Amino acid sequence: MRRGIVLGLLVAVGGLAAVNAQPPAGQPAPKVLEVEKLADNLYVLKAAAGGGNTAAFITATGVVVVDTKNPGWGQPIIDKIKELTPKPVTTIINTHTHADHVSGNVEFPATVDVVVQENTKTNMEGMGPVTGREDQWTPSIFTANGGKGMPKRSFKDTMTLFSGADRVDLYYFGRGHTNGDAFVVFPALRVMHAGDIFARKGPPLLDANNGGSGSLIGDTLAKVHAGVKNVDRIITGHSTVMTWSDLKEYSEFNKDFLGWVQEELKTGKSVDAATAEYAIPAKYAGYTPNAAQTKTNIGVIYNELKK
Ligand SMILES: [Zn+2]
Repeated sequence: MRRGIVLGLLVAVGGLAAVNAQPPAGQPAPKVLEVEKLADNLYVLKAAAGGGNTAAFITATGVVVVDTKNPGWGQPIIDKIKELTPKPVTTIINTHTHADHVSGNVEFPATVDVVVQENTKTNMEGMGPVTGREDQWTPSIFTANGGKGMPKRSFKDTMTLFSGADRVDLYYFGRGHTNGDAFVVFPALRVMHAGDIFARKGPPLLDANNGGSGSLIGDTLAKVHAGVKNVDRIITGHSTVMTWSDLKEYSEFNKDFLGWVQEELKTGKSVDAATAEYAIPAKYAGYTPNAAQTKTNIGVIYNELKK
């Protein structure tokens, strides 16, 4: 008994040491993925530093991966999926063009099908700077890899992949985070991956450089809420799994923000003055403020309203 406790303590201390161990200088930190199981054949692979949430949907014939995170995270995703199933990855769906959702594509075998909304395909051909984050721009990973990982197929409004329990429905409802935000629905599981048009409860990134729109994002989200049926759980771009009513609330949050910005512009407020005044309305409890993003978004919406 006592010996067991001592052994247990040693194991616990050893475990802590392993967690605290830093990689040697110059070595990259290990890329660790946290796995959240939503169903026997659907998992979310998460890593705070890795980029957007990745979904792995296991079908009869292979694995569908939604979003592939930052550069260097493709192989860790492949390795983690090998722990979940012996089936190969056959398909990648990218929800939109951003580097923290598409860069891992280049690490998958060239035979893997890559499917995106058609505007995202165009955006991925450029991989230009993101509005408000121009200083973080890096050259296209696809150009650096001879085009490997680029989309092979695209859709305009809807597309269906596979059938029965394996069915995946893709939708596009209009501009928001970018002009190519795909919604990926797994009907048999009543789950949807929303990508970054619903990244978290807080100000969205409105990437005007890639077709995003603060005037339209609320309407687009409302169209999704009205147009997609039989979904209970939503995999968000960067946060926890949320509910269908959370999506409705998020469309209203964005519509309310647009209405407020319209008033600020009418009364002649500068972007800085409006930013200083903004507070998340009390009814959106639990939403995380982001002053820098709010400032960018006010600027984006002013530009749209002045056109
Ligand atoms: Zn994004």
